Amino acid sequence: MDLTEPQIPEAPASTGHPRQLYMLFFTEMWERFSFYGMKALLLAYMISELKFDEPKGYAILGSYAALVYTMPMFGGMMSDRFLGGRKAVMYGGILMAIGHLVLALPQDWSFFYGMAFIICGNGFFKPNISSLVGTLYADNDPRKDSAFSIFYMGINIGAAMGGLLCGYVGQQIDWHYGFGLAGIFMILGLVVFAIGKKSLKDKGLPPNPADLKKPVFAGISKEVVIYAATLLVIPVIVALFNRYEIMDFIMFGLGALSVLYILFIAFQMDASARYKLFAALVMIVFSTLFWAFYEQNAGSLNLFAMRNVDMHVGGVELPALAVNNFLPPAWVVILSFFFAWLWPALNRKNMEPNTPVKFGLSFVLMGLGFYVFYLSSKMHAETGIIPLFSFIAGYFFIICGEMCISPIGLSMITKLSPARIVAMMMGIWFFASAVGEFLASKIGAMMSVPEGVVDNPVLSLPYYAQVLNQIGLWSLGIGVVLILFSRVIRSWMGQVR
Ligand code: GLN
Repeated sequence: MDLTEPQIPEAPASTGHPRQLYMLFFTEMWERFSFYGMKALLLAYMISELKFDEPKGYAILGSYAALVYTMPMFGGMMSDRFLGGRKAVMYGGILMAIGHLVLALPQDWSFFYGMAFIICGNGFFKPNISSLVGTLYADNDPRKDSAFSIFYMGINIGAAMGGLLCGYVGQQIDWHYGFGLAGIFMILGLVVFAIGKKSLKDKGLPPNPADLKKPVFAGISKEVVIYAATLLVIPVIVALFNRYEIMDFIMFGLGALSVLYILFIAFQMDASARYKLFAALVMIVFSTLFWAFYEQNAGSLNLFAMRNVDMHVGGVELPALAVNNFLPPAWVVILSFFFAWLWPALNRKNMEPNTPVKFGLSFVLMGLGFYVFYLSSKMHAETGIIPLFSFIAGYFFIICGEMCISPIGLSMITKLSPARIVAMMMGIWFFASAVGEFLASKIGAMMSVPEGVVDNPVLSLPYYAQVLNQIGLWSLGIGVVLILFSRVIRSWMGQVR
């Protein structure tokens, strides 16, 4: 037997998936509750409470989002080389919980420090929990895609509840209570993992446990040095928030380096593995653009929802932040059932689109969604307020797009990457969303509404409408190009679809 092949744990007949999947599902669900609960509040908190001007708010949001998804590259690397997935998830979760609780303190210093803890924690947590899912299945196991779809549903059940509850509590009651609530649910996620991790048996253990315990200096083990060195990064991140202009260089530099790194690894491989990495690289680069448009959700669309969407239903005014942050993940959960049926149904007829085509479709669908926002804005220019229905409908298309890229991408990474660098490749996958979210905040800043206009929806609406239109058109165009080139990318992927 080839010992490098993951062994598939027994599956309960009812679901066909190993039960460890559900342990990872619940851990990630609570973690994402806290992550998205906090993110729902971030921009509006800076503008309404800290009185940052809009461009500064977008710049800090962009820096946060960029760093929070850059760290997984390093967290992935640490786990592949030293820690293994389990220790990385535990340590990351602890740092995230501390971060959320620090944000709950109504102190001036706590804002940047809280975010810095979450950033470092997410670096360890996020790529590793996802690659632990991959370890439960062999690469060609047909259950792998569906496992990631189930896992993705967990992510979004958490995100929907977090956006709704923290968005409501933060906006209506107290911002800091909203952040605190996020912290409590992160702790819940950690407890689930701490209890359940034993069931992973030999999965996610350190690659060389003896080496990890070896003292490197003054009797301190390598493991402790890794943890301590991470803490030293926290003040550096705080300094970056204070000098956020530098982020442009960091993101550009790291972006170039990670592309070079993948190429460097690829050229050490045999031809088949090399071309697989090329295919992954191309799709990673496109995913950057996807997130740059998609992540208007956590930025400009929060303020758009507060200013230009009619939140009245049956005489009650819904809290805009909660609605805007609940809708996308709620659509994901609903649509997960549809896509879980659609892909196998198409597959049976030999009509399932391959991964590059799905990526192309994701842009086309997202473009349609932004176009719905734009058209509705155009139709309601005299009132400056678009109906909630069109807001919900626009998100429907955007999330159909997400379903064609995000869960598919996770699964693709675990299939196209050589086993020894899979967590780091997962980190690079998330880094693409870091670059994307950084670009998203720049696009968002183009929708900054001047001070005197914010309370007048008729005047604020055009600031959004013209950029939403551009996003819609670009997205459609990129999708068509990707579909046209999908055959080439597909040919690099070998047996992987
Ligand atoms: N919404 C997904 C998650 O939280 C995807 C995030 C991403 O890849 N940027 O996992």
